[in-house]
Amino acid sequence: MNKFSLILLITGLLLTACRHKEKKTGTQDRIKPQEKAEVKIEKFLHFPLNIYHIEKDTVQKNETLAKILNSHHISSQEIYRITQEIDSLFDPKKIRAGKIYYMVYPKNSQDTTGKPEAFVYQETAADYTVIYLHDKRDEILEKISKPVIEKKKEISVPIENSLFYDLQIRNISPVLALKLSDIYAWTVDFFHLQPRDKFKAIYFDRYVDTTYLGVGDIKAAVFYHYGDTIYAFRYEFDTLNGRYDYFDEKGKTLRKQFLKSPIKFGRITSRYSLRRYVRLYGRIKPHFGTDFAAPVGTPIYSTADGVVEKVGYTRGNGNYVKIRHNATYSTQYLHMRNFAKGIRPGVRVRQGQVIGYVGMTGFTTGPHVCYRFWKNGKQVDPFKQKLPEAKSLDSTLLENYFRYIEPLKKQLDSLP
Ligand SMILES: [Zn+2]
Repeated sequence: MNKFSLILLITGLLLTACRHKEKKTGTQDRIKPQEKAEVKIEKFLHFPLNIYHIEKDTVQKNETLAKILNSHHISSQEIYRITQEIDSLFDPKKIRAGKIYYMVYPKNSQDTTGKPEAFVYQETAADYTVIYLHDKRDEILEKISKPVIEKKKEISVPIENSLFYDLQIRNISPVLALKLSDIYAWTVDFFHLQPRDKFKAIYFDRYVDTTYLGVGDIKAAVFYHYGDTIYAFRYEFDTLNGRYDYFDEKGKTLRKQFLKSPIKFGRITSRYSLRRYVRLYGRIKPHFGTDFAAPVGTPIYSTADGVVEKVGYTRGNGNYVKIRHNATYSTQYLHMRNFAKGIRPGVRVRQGQVIGYVGMTGFTTGPHVCYRFWKNGKQVDPFKQKLPEAKSLDSTLLENYFRYIEPLKKQLDSLP
């Protein structure tokens, strides 16, 4: 499975969720069936409910601020004044069908017109805009954000099916799987998880009041993969700019950089080019690889950790090996004389491991290795890629780092 199928899978999951929601609502004129419910809490934002009566409603299709206010006994002149006053503070066009709003009515008011005192638009579960409708008030508009509460969670999940499925049956958001696959993109092969693999994580769930917003940051995790124990701790190494990354228990980065060349010595004789004259074909043919010339028998290294995807022979490529490094990147090595011992599909290789030897098999005029770099299934120029930065922690930060991760590591280790 590649990144595309991953995206498809997630889209699929989301679509199922959406379809489910749609079924519940149906195709009535009203967007939600349960509106106009009275809010039953002591206080709504800063409106105490012993003084105010709050009506909750949903913006309908083609409903504008003016329409909503008009239907709540606010005259056209008043609406005009209000829209003038809020002009630079709130754009009424921001009001969208399906969004929730509230009408705030004073209880026991001498005002018998039944006019609301404020209109409250809920932009997100956390963000509200209060528009005061009376001209007697100094205040015209107020933006209120409810605090987002982060609740720490701990999980320990043995991989039995797939990461997504194993999370799904535990009612954990697939976003956590995405975040894990990002942290471990270079160290865990998510498409070949083993039955004995498992992971533990300490992460945050985000809430506003009781509304679940989703998975927040993963604070620490450990993955048991192919017998390896791989820790990951989120650490802010640049507090000034809020830059952070994930590091292992030694302060080493979890990202890997590609080797610049698949052979130790040798020179580039031809670069990646979409317009290159190839004598063999007698016509312009793009060259998707970078050629490194070297004597026959020179060892060829895998430029990064990965899993051997293909070992084969074609008339053009000769003997070749293709290695998948993660969901995004693969590399391919052509014209080999022969393969290194044990190199076959499914085998894990380390960065710098010998996978074969320079040869002249396939269409080639001299001994060289044609190095091909695949990104999301397309051949690209490895020298023009913005590859992930792979920096370990600066030694001056290590002492602090170790002190920071010690309790986290203990906590992870003690999870069942
Ligand atoms: Zn080539």
